[in-house]
Amino acid sequence: MKELLLALPHRDESYRVLIGPGLRLGLGYLLSPLDFPSRLFLISDSRVARLHGAAVQSALAEAGYTSTLLTTPPGERAKTWTVAQRLARELLRLGAHRASPLIALGGGVVGDLTGFLASIFMRGVPLIQVPTTLLAMVDAAIGGKTAINLPEGKNLLGTFHQPRLVVIDPDFLHTLPPKERLNGLAEVLKAGFIRAPDLLTYLETVGPSLFKNPAAVTDIIYRAAAIKAQVVAADEREAGLRRILNFGHTLGHALEQAAAFRLSHGRAVAFGMLAALILSEKLVGLPQEEAQRGRRLIQSFGLVRRAPALDLKAILAALPMDKKRLEKDLVFVLLRRLGEPVIQTGVPLTLIKEALRKVLGGGG
Ligand code: ADP
Ligand code: ZN
Repeated sequence: MKELLLALPHRDESYRVLIGPGLRLGLGYLLSPLDFPSRLFLISDSRVARLHGAAVQSALAEAGYTSTLLTTPPGERAKTWTVAQRLARELLRLGAHRASPLIALGGGVVGDLTGFLASIFMRGVPLIQVPTTLLAMVDAAIGGKTAINLPEGKNLLGTFHQPRLVVIDPDFLHTLPPKERLNGLAEVLKAGFIRAPDLLTYLETVGPSLFKNPAAVTDIIYRAAAIKAQVVAADEREAGLRRILNFGHTLGHALEQAAAFRLSHGRAVAFGMLAALILSEKLVGLPQEEAQRGRRLIQSFGLVRRAPALDLKAILAALPMDKKRLEKDLVFVLLRRLGEPVIQTGVPLTLIKEALRKVLGGGG
């Protein structure tokens, strides 16, 4: 088992992020030191509940916990106020109280929704994250951001609510569809680009057959999760450093929105990272061979095969900028070197368009 400690010094708080194959089967014992009441509530989507619910519940029972499993429909549509309210009412009916921990067992959607609920139910109850997708393991489950969606857009209602423990079992990924694995891989690449060129080298060495190598999977989860934990510990509320986690996301979010979310988050971010590499070369001196290296790596995992047919106007309209101030409001994370991010504002719209055309025209 590998272990990370996420310390939030200004609040004198910390929590552990545990990583290891098979950890889900010892979940009950991992919770014991936290002194929770013996009655626990698991929240999962119906798919994850069917695949993994029983094993996790018996692991809890083994350590003397009684658990109730509440489920949501799978996918982004569960991240709503309606579902959050329904879960809250079920929890009340089942006797949950102020000290009752909620365990999020699922991908980023379940984690965000459960975290959101845990932060407001009875003014806040303890949260444990047990991520089951690669994306959640390396990104969403660590750092305490929670959210639900509104009809106007994703993640518009949210809170910060740090978990008390994160338990990452890479064995959950055996049942995860390849498309979902790729989704998470984009965030692993991102972590490498902003902070760890050695992780990029490692990904180049293992290549796309990564998922056939369980030890390598555990290793990249550990490295990417460590980067996320470091960045969050330094800047919990995204006042500064945490912004670097948005590498590839400025355009990535706009692409997702322009595609009406038919484009997965991971692929959208991969296209966003390709464009950011081009802008980095043009604006902040990223050496051409490093940009080329980054491009090849993104392409080698099949993340940017078949560029989506999207209207440039629709993408630009989805960028978070004021019509009058235009690009002054847009914040890009660019790279001076691989592993050396810079926050850049005022990127000229003409350059953004050019980068998008290159990236979406040629695809990969
Ligand atoms: P993300 O983690 O990318 O935000 P979701 O939480 O929406 O995504 O999960 C993506 C999909 O994968 C959902 O349909 C969910 O039910 C499914 N899923 C999550 N974890 C697993 C797993 N370990 N095995 C199989 N399917 C899973
Ligand atoms: Zn992301």
